Order: sequence, then C-alpha cells, then structure tokens
Amino acid sequence: MLKPKYPKHALGQNFLQDLQVVAKIIAALDPKPNDNLLEIGPGTGALTARLLAKVNKLKAVELDASLAPLLKQNLGEDFAKLELHLGDILTFNLDSLGPNLRIVSNLPYQISTPLIFKLGAWQAKARMLEDATPLIDVHLMLQQEVADRLVATGGANFGRLSVMAQYYFDIAPLFTVPPSAFWPQPKVFSSVVRLVPKPISALTAKNLDHLAQLVQVSFSARRKTMRNALSGYFDASDWQRLAIDPQRRPERFSVAEYIKLSNYYTNKIGRGGRI
Ligand code: SAM
Repeated sequence: MLKPKYPKHALGQNFLQDLQVVAKIIAALDPKPNDNLLEIGPGTGALTARLLAKVNKLKAVELDASLAPLLKQNLGEDFAKLELHLGDILTFNLDSLGPNLRIVSNLPYQISTPLIFKLGAWQAKARMLEDATPLIDVHLMLQQEVADRLVATGGANFGRLSVMAQYYFDIAPLFTVPPSAFWPQPKVFSSVVRLVPKPISALTAKNLDHLAQLVQVSFSARRKTMRNALSGYFDASDWQRLAIDPQRRPERFSVAEYIKLSNYYTNKIGRGGRI
C-alpha cells in the first residue's frame, strides 16, 4: 500500500498497518452491501479497501487532498465505487449524505470531541423535528483516554464529553489497539467504540442548547460545588424545588440530573426567570 512520505501530524495521520485490527473493525461494523456507509478520513485506504470489498458503494470525506492520488492507486478498480468528498467533516453538510447513515472511522484524534458533539446534535435535532432516521450507528477508533471519558459515569474521567455523548448515544467500548498497529506509531493506546443513537423517548431535554450550556458551565468549574458553579443560574429556592443536593461537584451529578437541571432552567427562562 502506497503511503505519503511525510504524514501530517496536525491532521492526525496515523495510518493503520495491522490488518488484523482492520479485520476486527470490519467484523464489529458488519457492513451489508446496500448500507449507506460513510468513512471519515480514508487516508491511503487501509480500511477503505476492505470496506469496498463488502459494500456496493462507499462515501468518504477526507480533508487532505494530497492523499487522493495515493488512495486512487491503492484502491485500483474499486475506487470507482467510492464517492470521495474532499473537505472537513466538521463543516460538512451531513444532511447531504442521505438517511440511515452508518459511520466508520479511524478518527484523527484532534477532532473526536467536536465530531461526537456534532453527530449527536445533528441526529437528535433531525429526529425530533423531522421524525427522520439520519444515523444508524458510528464505529470510531479513538484515543484510549477519550474512549474512557466517553463511557465514564463519574469521577475524574467524567466531564462534558461524557454527559453530552451519553445523552445522545448508547456507547459500547469494543476493543483496544496498541500503538504498533499504526504508522507512524502514536504515543498512546487506542480504543474502538460503537455509538448507537438513543431512542427518541430518551431525548427528554426540552432545549439542547440549555443542556449543553449548563454542562459546559458546570465542568468549567469542576472543583467547585454545583451551588457555586451554577450560582448565575440557580438560587437556594431553585435547588430546593429541584430536590437536588447542590453541595456535590459536577462530576458527582448523573446525566439524568443534568437533564433535570436543564429542563428546570428552560422552564425558568420561559417564565422570565421566575418559577
Ligand atoms: N483511515 C486511514 C487509516 O486508517 O489508515 C487514515 C486514518 S488517519 C488516523 C485520519 C485521516 O483523517 C487522515 O487521512 C486525515 O488526513 C483525515 N482527516 C484529518 N482531519 C480531517 C477532517 N477534519 N475531516 C476529514 N478528514 C480528516
């Protein structure tokens, strides 16, 4: 497989070279011929080639246009089955990809958090407003540390990413991958995770912007108690009505409690700040 002479660190270019790991990702994904499948960052095609052997058509978004000629050569005839978009997935119009999307990626680590936020909000809004099914599932290779934060339910790893991702998705860690699986080798272990959108009945936040805002403000003061972290939002009588103990730190609150805070705040704003 042809590779670039100088992989771009800034674009997270750690190319998969361990074919057993590629096979494990494909087995976890279990793609079917007519799946509406998107690969983010095909790079030089390590994963792409094996995906194309399974599906009739594959969509891909790649930021580094200089890799396209290598990708074309590596894929040979199968390149014709690839719908390649050169651009940034963070600004890409996901609606243009059609419904029932499945996503797979050995993700550039720099974009994992903003991408998960984007996917979560995009699919939740589409389902609530249009009763559509934009997204089936997402399989991502992530830095182990990010995967740990995704599934944490409390403690030091629990933060903004945990709450927002767990609001939008059911998340399953699948397997870990050592640095030796990549070229060049990253400094850290990686982990493959599966994210499946939560049923619409679980999306109970009345205002997603309020939820995101409260979670962000809480964790930007993660050493304070919630009473102090959210002093600009709730006073003593609010906490009493909420029947929530505010003397705990943000990392000791559950996702359900964040939703409760958010909905209370949405009601409060709706009544001009009074409850
Ligand atoms: N899929 C290949 C593999 O497994 O060998 C490459 C994976 S490499 C970790 C990440 C890929 O994502 C690179 O090809 C990189 O150029 C691309 N990339 C980086 N930032 C991107 C972005 N914002 N949007 C789309 N692709 C991006």
